This record gives sequence, C-alpha cells and structure tokens, in this order.
Amino acid sequence: MLEITDLHATVDGKAILNGLTLSVGAGQVHAIMGPNGAGKSTLSYVLAGRAGYEVTGGSVTLDGRDLLALPAHERAAAGLFLGLQYPVEIPGVSNLLFLRTALNAQRKLRGEAEASGAEFMKLIKVEAEGLGLSMDMLKRPVNVGFSGGEKKRNEMVQMAVLRPRVAVLDETDSGLDIDALRVVADGINRMRAPDRATLLITHYQRVLDYVVPDRVHVLVAGRIERSGGPELAHQLEREGYVRVAA
Ligand code: ADP
Ligand code: MG
Ligand code: MG
Repeated sequence: MLEITDLHATVDGKAILNGLTLSVGAGQVHAIMGPNGAGKSTLSYVLAGRAGYEVTGGSVTLDGRDLLALPAHERAAAGLFLGLQYPVEIPGVSNLLFLRTALNAQRKLRGEAEASGAEFMKLIKVEAEGLGLSMDMLKRPVNVGFSGGEKKRNEMVQMAVLRPRVAVLDETDSGLDIDALRVVADGINRMRAPDRATLLITHYQRVLDYVVPDRVHVLVAGRIERSGGPELAHQLEREGYVRVAA
C-alpha cells in the first residue's frame, strides 16, 4: 500500500534521510523506532509534503500513485493522515468546523458528495464518544487549552472521522499517562482494517503492548538499519538503540 524506496531528503541543505526503504502492506501496522534526531519526524513531514523538506532522491507511492508529485492537500485526499508529535492549536476555529471543513475538502477532491451537517454530526458523535471526547470539547477551538492527553485524543477523533488509508502517527504516545495511552492505542486499533495501514512512530516500546505491530523497524541516521517482529521492540528496550542497530 505504502512503498518508500531509497528515499533521500534534506532540510536546510542538510541530508536527513539517507536511502530509506520501507514497504507497508494493506491491513498492517508498522512501528518505526529510533533515537532522537534519527529522522523520524522528518520522514513523517516528507510523506505529508511539508514545505522546506526537499526530496533529493527515491520514490514514495500510495496505492501505486506517486505521492511525492502531489501537493500536501492532495496527499491527504489520497488517504494520507499525519498525526503530529506536537498537535497545533488553532485559536478561533472550533474542532467541529475544522474537521467538517477538512472532511468535505477531501471528499470534494475525490469527487465524492460532501457530508451534510446532520451526517457530519452523526459521524463525529460516534467517534468522539468512542474515544471519550465530549461535545463540549468539540465546540472549543482546536486544541486550545487542551491537555497533552486531550490533544492526542482529539487527533484520534480527527483520524477516525477522516478514515485515512495510511495513518502516519509521529510519537502520538509520547508524554501520555497510562489512561491516555490506552485511548490512543484504542483509536489506532479501531482503525485496523484490511484496507488501511498505520505507520506508528514511537520512541518507547510501551505503546506496542497495546498496539501489537506486524513489523518493527529501527531508524538510525536517516535509514532503516534493522527490521523484525514485535520482539525487536523488546530487544531495543533492553539493549538500547546503539547495540541493536550496530
Ligand atoms: P527525530 O524525529 O527522529 O527525533 P527529526 O526528524 O526531528 O528526528 O530530526 C532529524 C535531524 O534533522 C536532526 O539532526 C535535526 O536536528 C535535524 N532537523 C530537523 N528539522 C530541522 C530544521 N528545520 N533545520 C535543520 N535541521 C533540522
Ligand atoms: Mg525527536
Ligand atoms: Mg521526532
């Protein structure tokens, strides 16, 4: 579903991704682990098409489409979702307006009918309830005054409503207490389906007790140094990145 081949990318002229190859099949969850500064967030930004992140080699396809040829909003409409390590606050824009606008913009680009107010409210109510976010919070400006855990919860609601083909979640588990971690894991597990895939970027093994990945990859200095099953995450936790990736 998501094919990344020999990807090279620079930020401010500095090479950050150095020949990264990764293949994520439909229905799979892959975890990407790695030390600070390895290029994990850079990978997520390059996939999403963030300005300032220049691809200097390689290719990325989603369902066979050349993802890198598309502007960011068309990548989203093609089914790519990016969960941010640090979710942004958007003062003056309610969660409801934000999400309905995003959903309908994507539907429009795909040539689908837009969601009516009633259809949208039904959709978001189900997902928000399932993830423990109140209607009161949905009416508030995006993430403004939300705790870290509430921001991550909100991101899971956004993901559930947009129903991406491929979700790239950048350290969506970091800084969460155990209850919030379970909510995030629940959100990811609820999205598991034969026609979807998740790239779960994480620093810690802990979340992988709740979301059991099909594959675990170790990203070091801009490339995948090792891949394995879920046991690789436990080995990393025990032995550290330096020994395991050597
Ligand atoms: P990770 O998410 O794995 O911790 P990042 O992708 O955030 O790593 O960063 C990878 C490397 O790229 C680091 O050395 C970081 O300093 C560098 N980097 C990230 N963003 C920028 C930027 N805007 N300008 C210059 N260097 C950057
Ligand atoms: Mg980091
Ligand atoms: Mg990061």
